[in-house]
Amino acid sequence: MLPVVALVGRPNVGKSTLFNRLTRTRDALVADFPGLTRDRKYGQANYDGYQFIVIDTAGVHGDEEGIDKEMASQSLRAIDEADVVLFMVDARDGITSADLGIAKHLRSIGKKAYIVANKIDGIDAEAAQADFYELGLGEVYGIAAAHGRGVESLLHRCFTPLVEDYPEMKVAVADEDAETPPDLEHDEIDYDALPLKLAIVGRPNVGKSTLTNRILGEERVVVFDMPGTTRDSIYIPMERDGRQYILIDTAGVRRRGRIDETVEKFSVIKTLQAIEDANVVICVLDARETISDQDLNLIGFALNAGRSIVIAVNKWDGLDNDHKEEIKRELDRRLGFVDFARLHFISALHGSGVGNLFESVLEAYASATQRVSTSKLTRIMEMAADEHQPPLVRGRRVKLKYAHAGGYNPPRIIIHGNQVNDLPGAYQRYLTNYFRKSLGIMGTPIKVEFRESD
Ligand code: GDP
Ligand code: GDP
Repeated sequence: MLPVVALVGRPNVGKSTLFNRLTRTRDALVADFPGLTRDRKYGQANYDGYQFIVIDTAGVHGDEEGIDKEMASQSLRAIDEADVVLFMVDARDGITSADLGIAKHLRSIGKKAYIVANKIDGIDAEAAQADFYELGLGEVYGIAAAHGRGVESLLHRCFTPLVEDYPEMKVAVADEDAETPPDLEHDEIDYDALPLKLAIVGRPNVGKSTLTNRILGEERVVVFDMPGTTRDSIYIPMERDGRQYILIDTAGVRRRGRIDETVEKFSVIKTLQAIEDANVVICVLDARETISDQDLNLIGFALNAGRSIVIAVNKWDGLDNDHKEEIKRELDRRLGFVDFARLHFISALHGSGVGNLFESVLEAYASATQRVSTSKLTRIMEMAADEHQPPLVRGRRVKLKYAHAGGYNPPRIIIHGNQVNDLPGAYQRYLTNYFRKSLGIMGTPIKVEFRESD
């Protein structure tokens, strides 16, 4: 589990700027699901050795009425989902009535909030910050989100007390200079003996609950009723063909029928946490709906998180052939970026195709965890370079020396050589695809990284 940080504050104080800095905009997910405001953005942040989920809320004025009030209250829900609130104010403007309204709300709910005075670049920061102690939320942290100043020390302050509860948030910083293959702790792990954590994710109504029930119904499973907040998925241990799994249920089959189901049925945080925690993710799409950006965002998020994925196109029952062909063409067009993931056409309702999903799940997991020796990786690298020699950079040919495994789950391959950091993107992609094909890797993203030798 990763902690959740919400950015709140009135419009224009710099929330998006900070959000983009923290997430580098790569995997922002916009919550445009029914029943949720369009203005909450979720992203995974990896900053200064910390990993966390960040929510950028719509601006809150603190004095909204009517529609605005509804919007604001939706934004305030992000605060409920968060472990920590960064309450942003504009250091150049001083305290506004909107700031006072938000501060009052934050004081009343008693959530841990840090006042972040943004835009301290080019002004007398200390004098500007002093103003905001009046908000009654303790210390004021000055930053310039646009330039990054102050951001590290702010995060350090607010994360130090969280690390104990969220040990996974601390990421080991890789030793860029390591020349020799690292002693991988992976080699000690027996992946086949571990339960495979399988998350079922997708937009509301694509059929996640139906699929979960179908999978569980086919097996004799004991479902433990696990307590949790709306933010938590349900973890269901199960066995299939003699293998242990933990099904991560984001749809909440066990909670069906509850009144808050319609609103909280889909929680982006829940989905992101489930993806983070899974080994393999089944992304469920609805054959009867066109593929939305949200579907693609979810898949993209899982890939960026390095997860293995299997795509299940659900509700394949009762469609005529023309319609099926049309859907396949659309999938071809839009899923090119995950052409290494297996695509299954299933009917969760009738059960067709569901069993086959597991073959691809196991294949993806095996791909993500297979051990490959340095000599084999180096040989593949040499074959790739023989077929297509690396380009010249500044008049000298890029030289690839050797390759070794740098990690698993997702697989990382490290290539050492001369001028390798100058390899054009097209050649890097060629090498990545070559490794993928040679190693028979399916369903999992692989990362090829380059290290300069002396
Ligand atoms: P949001 O509405 O709270 O999401 O605010 P934005 O991130 O869109 O920022 C509002 C404006 O403030 C933009 O014009 C930003 O370029 C500017 N801004 C954001 N951060 C900084 C900063 O650190 N220094 C300065 N000088 N301007 C900033
Ligand atoms: P969730 O929100 O993703 O958990 O979706 P549900 O499992 O609640 O399913 C949403 C609706 O789609 C329900 O009415 C299901 O009966 C229906 N549904 C689910 N799977 C299938 C399927 O394979 N075929 C058809 N025709 N309908 C399905």
